Amino acid sequence: MFSLLQGIKMSVKVAINGYGTVGKRIADAVDQQKDMEIVGVSKRTPTYEAELAAEKGFPFYAASDKYLKAFDEKDIPVEGMFDEMLEVADLIVDATPKGAGYKETFEKAGIKAIWQGGEKHSLTGLSFNSMANYEEAYGADYVRVVSCNTTGLLRTLYPIHVDIGFDKCNAVMIRRSADPWDTKRGPINSIDPVLNIPSHHGPDVQSVVPDIDIQTTAVKVPTTLMHLHSVIVDLKEDVDTDHILKLWEKTPRIKFFEASQGVDSTAKIMEWAKDRGNFRGDLNEIAVWKDGTQVKDGTLYYYQAIHQESDIIPENVDAIRSMMEMEEDKMKSIQLTNAGMSIE
Ligand code: NAD
Repeated sequence: MFSLLQGIKMSVKVAINGYGTVGKRIADAVDQQKDMEIVGVSKRTPTYEAELAAEKGFPFYAASDKYLKAFDEKDIPVEGMFDEMLEVADLIVDATPKGAGYKETFEKAGIKAIWQGGEKHSLTGLSFNSMANYEEAYGADYVRVVSCNTTGLLRTLYPIHVDIGFDKCNAVMIRRSADPWDTKRGPINSIDPVLNIPSHHGPDVQSVVPDIDIQTTAVKVPTTLMHLHSVIVDLKEDVDTDHILKLWEKTPRIKFFEASQGVDSTAKIMEWAKDRGNFRGDLNEIAVWKDGTQVKDGTLYYYQAIHQESDIIPENVDAIRSMMEMEEDKMKSIQLTNAGMSIE
């Protein structure tokens, strides 16, 4: 889709529906790419986020007349109505809460669309992770980028699945209770087990790579910074710890931390991200404790931490490139996305 017109590279036009935690991050990540641009954002309420986005020059489109009036009252310029946004965009990224139900609208408008992990696999029939199935999404009309936890599991398990193979993986998801801004959700003084076994994360990994054997359980804890996974994998080959670390070293979007460097908690990882000057203090990579990774008698044990709001963002950018047939090679897309987003 990189078409050269009189020496000018055409950029793919992307619209965002739902400008919240995930939507605003995807808009910025798209804006940071040279081969795509934001042509419209649809938000219902004129919050401070809408004001900031308008300052960045993102064109706003109103979901209905009711919302148009609210934007007018706040002096936030509105480019047009939602239907008009669908006409100017090549692809829409839907980042509304699960079940908002826009599929029919997008189908009628004949526009390609990406949904997020809150939706079910059946909505698109194609669940996405950049390393695992970039090729499958090539030219696709509808794709779902899997959730933050599933993305985290796939980032570290997929290279092991391909390189060594494993008979079984058991993983415990220690989940943060809410996003940091969210003062409504809990628990605030409790640990809540998810009593459905397996938790939905294992089947969700299989929605991308069906032949990965994985069982997951989950607990919710009173923290907002990150999720943490404790992962146990029965390897097919008795490789040593160094083999696993080298494999991850050459896998994009995995970042090692070491307790011996003072990074022994999710709080310290988030502090590192801020100190490094990461945009918004986000961490798009999956954090793996190097000194918490060990192979013993053919079984791999490791801990990883997931920055829930941001690990899926580069995946959305790669999904756009694949669906719009802009780049066939997943590694090239990953490199482009990472460069635009300043991911190491
Ligand atoms: P959010 O509540 O932060 O943002 C949703 C935005 O959509 C808000 O701006 C809201 O005003 C708007 N909205 C709500 N209903 C709408 C509608 N009917 N039409 C248009 N706009 C509407 O939600 P979020 O956390 O960004 O989640 C979006 C999706 O991303 C969900 O599928 C969620 O499961 C997934 N996700 C969230 C996270 C996370 O950490 N927050 C991580 C991974 C995936």
